[in-house]
Amino acid sequence: MQIPFNKPYLTGKETHYIESAVKAWQLSGNGMFTQKCHAFFEQHYGFKKVLLTTSCTDALEMCAILANIQPGDEVIVPSYTFVSTAIAFVRQGATIVFADSESNTPNIDVSKLEALITPKTKAIVPVHYAGVACDMDPIMALADKYNLIVIEDAAQAIDSCYKGKPLGSIGHMAAFSFHETKNIISGEGGMLVINDEKYTNRAEIIWEKGANRAAFFRGEVAKYTWVDTGSSFLPSEIIAAFLWAQIENLNKIQEKRLTLWQSYYAGLKDWAEANGVHFPLVPDYATNNAHMFYLICNSEAQRSQLINHLKGNGILAIFHYQSLHSSPYYFERHDARELPNSDSYSNKLVRLPMYYELDVEKVIAKIKQF
Ligand SMILES: *Cc1c(COP(=O)(O)O)cnc(C)c1O
Repeated sequence: MQIPFNKPYLTGKETHYIESAVKAWQLSGNGMFTQKCHAFFEQHYGFKKVLLTTSCTDALEMCAILANIQPGDEVIVPSYTFVSTAIAFVRQGATIVFADSESNTPNIDVSKLEALITPKTKAIVPVHYAGVACDMDPIMALADKYNLIVIEDAAQAIDSCYKGKPLGSIGHMAAFSFHETKNIISGEGGMLVINDEKYTNRAEIIWEKGANRAAFFRGEVAKYTWVDTGSSFLPSEIIAAFLWAQIENLNKIQEKRLTLWQSYYAGLKDWAEANGVHFPLVPDYATNNAHMFYLICNSEAQRSQLINHLKGNGILAIFHYQSLHSSPYYFERHDARELPNSDSYSNKLVRLPMYYELDVEKVIAKIKQF
């Protein structure tokens, strides 16, 4: 039996809710299931306003539009992240300024942030890697001091906290993902969170092709018409119906993932110490949502050997981001920069299989043979 890296978990109710949406003849966006999802996230996490989107990438694009990013504006993004974190702002013409990771976590190194701020800086985009919070207080303090917008890339960060506050509720805006590799899923899917109410009205308009449809249906305007830029960022009810089944099982999914994470931790501790391999660090200010269990090997060679050893035993473990500052797209357009911690994670970090139905003891046993 092969052990994949990820296997989407189905709660059993997904097709049932999709059928309800079909039978209600409400298949386009913003119907009953979308509104149920919105209400859940707003009430459960205290987000001021949420809008489901077709992906986290789309939610980040909405953030870039709402932040009014113009050509030449600078946006600070960690180099160790998914390409969407940067590309959403590049599409608005932003110049991306890459920041390094911390030495003890892949998150953005806050101590080096202020040096990257210039008069052109418009926004900072912290990424909560593996669902573990960035140190948000100093980031928000810098944003205050320099009048910057903070957009949390919370793609991996559902149901996780910073000093007791849910991730996604701290920055001016945030973006989540429900891609099938995340904790709760809808195949493709995402969510925009607005915490600064000055963006709310415009967000609704941009979400639905630049038209004031939401205000029209609330009876606030007499005609529904084209008033702004935008796109079709909203998902169909089929996606929202699927997501609703996942939301109903959020606690069960989270408990299971945390148990698996703890098993990895306890089962591999001695092995890791003996082999010079490091575990994920969860700082005191952060919680763990068990999005991912990763190891940091002592060298790229050790990582390749471990990945190959597991592959030989039918287990798929994979590395993660290649630093974006060294990517062909960026490199051809900018001066070379040294971001040693980001490069170190690119070369040494490996992610172990993590999904609801995982046989974690088997993976642990095979790693210990290495
Ligand atoms: C998954 C992910 C994204 C992209 O999410 P999509 O829903 O696939 O667009 C963006 N940023 C990070 C950090 C991610 O992990």
